[in-house]
Amino acid sequence: MSVRESIHIDGVWQTAASGGTREVLDPADATTLAVVAEGGTADIDAAVHAARRAFDTGSWPGTPAAERAALLRRVAVLLQRDREEIALTESRDTGKTLEEGRVDVDDVTAAFRYFADLVGNESAGRVIDAGTPDVHSVVVHEPVGVCAMITPWNYPLLQASWKVAPALAAGNTFVLKPSEVTPLSTLRLIGLLAEAGLPAGVANVVTGAGDPVGARMAEHPGVDLVSFTGGLASGTKVAQAAAPTVKKVALELGGKNPNVVFADACATEEGFDLAVDQALNAAFIHSGQVCSAGARLIIEESVRDRFVAELAARAQRIRLGRGTEDGVECGPLVSEQQLAKTEAYVASALAEGAVLRCGGERPEPSDVRPATGYFYAPTVLDACHRGMRVVREETFGPILTVETFRTEAEAVELANDTEYGLAGAVFSSDTARARRVAGRLRHGTVWINDFHPYLPQAEWGGFGKSGVGRELGPHGLAEYRETKHVYENLRPAPVRWFAG
Ligand code: NAD
Repeated sequence: MSVRESIHIDGVWQTAASGGTREVLDPADATTLAVVAEGGTADIDAAVHAARRAFDTGSWPGTPAAERAALLRRVAVLLQRDREEIALTESRDTGKTLEEGRVDVDDVTAAFRYFADLVGNESAGRVIDAGTPDVHSVVVHEPVGVCAMITPWNYPLLQASWKVAPALAAGNTFVLKPSEVTPLSTLRLIGLLAEAGLPAGVANVVTGAGDPVGARMAEHPGVDLVSFTGGLASGTKVAQAAAPTVKKVALELGGKNPNVVFADACATEEGFDLAVDQALNAAFIHSGQVCSAGARLIIEESVRDRFVAELAARAQRIRLGRGTEDGVECGPLVSEQQLAKTEAYVASALAEGAVLRCGGERPEPSDVRPATGYFYAPTVLDACHRGMRVVREETFGPILTVETFRTEAEAVELANDTEYGLAGAVFSSDTARARRVAGRLRHGTVWINDFHPYLPQAEWGGFGKSGVGRELGPHGLAEYRETKHVYENLRPAPVRWFAG
């Protein structure tokens, strides 16, 4: 597949101004999946110019909310029409299973529908009681302007949709840069926006590397807002690059997410099974390459031995392979770099005293697992403590660390002992305790007796270094808006503050 014309500016698909290209690899066997344009700063400048013109002189910002909502709903229909094809693209590009790809397309569809409903049902403004009939005061929302959007490789289409859908719903124009590792599904989405009738220049895409392409987006004076999803190191650079022009900045960064399991959750066989099942799901779905992965199991000491033995036994049975193969439960890591990083984290943990319960190696090749693919076995590391690198840093691989606690206070203290604060879970059969602990966790999402579900109606984002701002929910729309107060004096008269 060749999509050298992967840059979309002012409604036209084109190659990079420099003529540069990049190979996109299939992580299951390291073969070339596609060749795309490798954009540069000249492409960003042209894309921002197009988005600026579409915002300043085009029809989209002034299009009635009901019409914008109708367009988003048409996109949702097109996503479902092409569901299977897009899911396949996502699966081959990221390595995730085809079923995960389908779930992603459904979640993306839900995001478009949610933001369509949100703006479609809104009133025009909030009338304020100024305390006198002589004043008409109203607070209205307007689009921010030109938005720069930068997305990661793990959920390429989903992360793009959490930005694109609210930005369009609010009437903005944008330039989007997907991850250079997994750009393909985003290109399909841009095609669907055009098919749904979005005017040229509103949605622009430039494929290319974080630096210089993403870096130029963050610093560009023609951009009003930068919304970034990715790692802490890149997010910090984005915030720094955006500061001199005082752009609005939204950051969705990493996580080191605790999964707190109380002994009472395991008191029955059913409860034990559920907690083990959810711990596996928390840590190993998409091979742990999830910002909200429950990579830290924090378990009450009295049930640790039995729990970890069962967890490791089940982790060993996870079927690894090419995501498009029937029966495969987990795909490869996304890149050689990600594989090397995982290996390095396991080595450092073992050197620091962790005990390997399962995994810790690349699996044997098989008919569904080419030797050239970036596969790594689900790994459980016992006897961990919070001083270890593997416990403090986001590994973004299939690594689950195990720590223990004796008291509720200790569990809370451990779970909050992270510079991140994206998500966490508590498993307990004691409802009062579960809610009490949930109330004390300093994380943007807390699950009780569950792990990973999210709702488009509910805000998503992090405390601490997990980010700034929120996606989804009403707040996720507000990120893409300016708020304006219009104060109208219905009986104007001189104020005579100054006598002369
Ligand atoms: P990354 O930071 O390496 O890259 C993310 C994006 O930023 C890519 O498009 C990349 O090209 C770009 N980029 C890199 N350097 C840049 C720079 N200096 N200026 C501007 N853009 C730059 O992250 P990744 O490895 O693609 O993704 C994994 C990370 O994303 C993890 O930390 C994960 O937790 C995080 N993530 C967070 C959420 C969330 O909702 N909070 C969701 C998904 C992923």
